[in-house]
Order: sequence, then structure tokens, then C-alpha cells
Amino acid sequence: MDIFENMVQRGHEQVTFFSDPQSGLRGIVAIHNTTLGPALGGCRMWNYANEAEALTDVLRLSKGMTYKAAISGLNLGGGKAVIIGDAKTEKSETLFRSFGRFVEGLGGRYITAEDVGTSVKDMEWVRTETNHVTGISRALGGSGDPSVVTAYGVFVGMKAAVKAKLNRNSLDGLKIGVQGLGHVGMILVDYLAKDGAELFVTDIDQNSIDKAVKDYGATAVALDDIYSLDVDIFAPCALGAILNDDTIPQLKCSVIAGASNNQLAKSHEHGKALMSRGILVAPDYVINAGGLINVSNELEGYNRERAFNQAEGIYDTLMAIFKRSEEADIPTNIASDYLAEERIRKLGELKSIYTSSGKKNRI
Ligand code: NAD
Repeated sequence: MDIFENMVQRGHEQVTFFSDPQSGLRGIVAIHNTTLGPALGGCRMWNYANEAEALTDVLRLSKGMTYKAAISGLNLGGGKAVIIGDAKTEKSETLFRSFGRFVEGLGGRYITAEDVGTSVKDMEWVRTETNHVTGISRALGGSGDPSVVTAYGVFVGMKAAVKAKLNRNSLDGLKIGVQGLGHVGMILVDYLAKDGAELFVTDIDQNSIDKAVKDYGATAVALDDIYSLDVDIFAPCALGAILNDDTIPQLKCSVIAGASNNQLAKSHEHGKALMSRGILVAPDYVINAGGLINVSNELEGYNRERAFNQAEGIYDTLMAIFKRSEEADIPTNIASDYLAEERIRKLGELKSIYTSSGKKNRI
């Protein structure tokens, strides 16, 4: 793989490879863009088939973080780390402390956090070697499990989409299909039930389905039936790439608003397909930004109330995206990308104004 060519194409600033044979650490940190602030993004531990796959993943994910932070109004850049290895069998204290020392060596340009394959405990090992880490337990002054704030952000974002598409202020009486009742999905279901929605749920885990049926009066549906349900809103909260050539023709909903990352299998093509079917999509990286908002709060001294207040901003952010989408006649995911890029450009230009203090931005 031509690494520099890939960096130029995607606009990356820095890619750093780490190797520590003693602990077995083989990792990559990709810093995409730091115009708005230090690059924050999780550390994924995954058994990649080869190095090229790991590099492609970290380049793709770190770029996504730049857009998520920018659209969410945070003064953070985009970055991500990957550790090559089996998260079930190859974790150790020395591995994560070794990773922590390499992160420390980046001098604060990159701030790490949990991601797929890493946990709060792993980040606490990282923290013994560097302060440039978030996603620490609440007991240690961190933000803890981000899912609560993520779910709240999805709930608020869903209300924005319903206002824009159906001109309604509440979800009362609306039919909503929820795919995935995990950390985010189950809390979301709680918010939706309290707002009076009629719920249809699916999951591969029967216990989760039983809980949603018993506690929230939800109707259980088969895994594949979730797409073709006659509902107002579809909330994907499990997997990526579920909006694709097979599923889009089945959809009867008017709004898509859920927590899953990378919902569109092909961003441009499927964004357009949904738009032409009159379905309003709340772009995934905007509506699920509560998790990033939550961990970013650790950098200023964690305050739960502040994190929830910031997550409420997802409503206005989505309204601005829907407006741009309508005015420019472009899919909402593309409108969102443009708005994120605009913020980076404008604030980058602002930094050309000299100030003598060298004061750092607040996050
Ligand atoms: P999770 O692993 O706790 O929950 C996922 C749920 O989906 C599980 O209950 C699982 O059984 C179910 N599932 C798996 N395959 C399924 C299938 N084929 N059909 C239906 N259900 C299926 O994950 P989570 O933390 O709740 O996150 C959900 C999604 O939101 C993920 O895509 C995640 O990347 C994204 N997200 C989460 C956060 C967060 O704060 N947790 C933040 C941003 C984005």
C-alpha cells in the first residue's frame, strides 16, 4: 500500500506505527486533522488479517472522527488507533501500558479512548502511562459508559427528524422499529416508551427481546422483518451497512434515526436512494455523537449534566443539516459532511488572527 498517497487522498496529517516486541504491541495511530483541536478517537483491538487491512481501517475511522467532532461543535480533531491482535486472548497490562507510553510520546496530538475490543479497564492501564486518555470509569473521575448519553442523543435527534419530516413535537403514537437492544438500544427504548411510542423490536438475543416486551410493551419481530415493517421510524442500533440495495426497497418508514455507525453501505449511492424514496435520514455520525460528547467532557473535568446538555445540541445540528439538504437538494449525509468541512475551514482561517496569549481552546 502506498501510505503517503493514501494519506494525501484522505487528508491525513500523521500516521504512526508502534512496535514493542516485549509486550507484543503492534499498533497504528492515525491523526486525520487537528485544525479544531487534539485528535480524539478510540483504540480498536482487532485480529486484522494483515497490516494493510489494519491501516485501511485506522485511516477510514480517524477521518470519520474529524467529521463527527466538527459537526458536533467540539474543538477536537479526528484520530483513531488500532492494535493488531485478538482482544479475547492477547490483552495484558504491559500491552496497554506500552500503548500508553507511545500515546504519551505523541505529546497530546492524539487522545485515546475505548472502542471495539477495548474496555474501561484497558484505558485505566493506559492512564498509568499517559494523561491523554478518556473513557475512564466514573469512580476515577471519568465519564464511564457512554451509552446513556448516546441513547439520549439519539432520542433527541429522532425528535428533530420527526419535527422536520412529520411536523410533530413528540413521538406519542408513532410506530418505531428498533434493531438491536444492546447498551444503546435498550436505553433508547426506555426513552421512546416514556414518550408514548409504539415499539417493534428485534435482536439476536432472546433475553433482550423478552425484556423489551415485558418492560416496555414492545412487539417482537423476526430479524429480517424489521426492514419491511409499516412503521414511521426505523432505528438501527446494532450493525453497520444495513441500508443497502437489499433493504432500502423494503423500507416503509419515513424517518431513519438510530445509533449504529456506518449505516449506509455506500454513502453517496444509498444516501441518494433514500432521499428519492422520501425517507429522511438522521446521519449516523451526527445522531450518535453523544458518546464522543460524553468522553470529550472528561478533558474539562467530567460533568454529567453538561454532557447531557451538549447532547441536546444534536437537535439543532440535525435541523441545520436537514435545512441544508433541502436547500441544496442533496442527501442529508452529504449536507452534514459539507457543514462539518465548512466549520473546519472557517475556524482554521480564524486561527490566522494573531493573539499574544497563546490561549488554548476549551473543548
Ligand atoms: P451492543 O453490542 O451493546 O448492542 C448491539 C445489539 O445488537 C446487541 O444486543 C446484539 O445482540 C444486537 N444484534 C447483533 N446482531 C444483530 C442483528 N443481526 N439483528 C438485530 N440485533 C443484532 O452495542 P451498543 O453499544 O448498543 O452500540 C450499538 C450501535 O451503536 C453500534 O453500531 C455502535 O457502534 C453504535 N454506537 C454506540 C455508541 C455507544 O455509546 N455505545 C456510540 C456511538 C455509536
